[in-house]
Amino acid sequence: MPVKGLGEYDPQNVFAKILRGDIPSKRVYEDEWALAFQDINPQAPIHVLVIPKGAYISLADFTAKATDAEIAGFYRAVGKVAKELELEDPGYRVLTNMGVHAGQEVPHFHVHLFGGGYLGPMLQISGR
Ligand code: AMP
Repeated sequence: MPVKGLGEYDPQNVFAKILRGDIPSKRVYEDEWALAFQDINPQAPIHVLVIPKGAYISLADFTAKATDAEIAGFYRAVGKVAKELELEDPGYRVLTNMGVHAGQEVPHFHVHLFGGGYLGPMLQISGR
């Protein structure tokens, strides 16, 4: 069910549990700022999620409250993951869902990293 992406952080969300090691994940990268792991329901040949280590609900929350060092460290990590997965050539897509209209389901800020094949048009809006 989509979440608002605003309000109180829920430490029981599934990505908080993955960060704490309470539930397993297929980790592909980790540093001081970020953890990357395979999406459980991949939408592309390569579909990795990158999450910050801090407790932020959404992109709105992260960009409002995280320090400059956290923001820089996180987005550098996204670039490093893409490079380590050899996605820079022929390319990849990064996507973030924020709030209900975007269909955000997990209330811990995350970036989807897609690659491994041609990804099609940027956006498809159903029901229009
Ligand atoms: P979003 O709709 O942007 O919030 O995306 C949430 C993503 O988290 C979806 O692509 C799910 O497949 C993925 N997901 C949910 N639970 C897990 C999990 N335990 N391990 C890995 N990915 C998950």
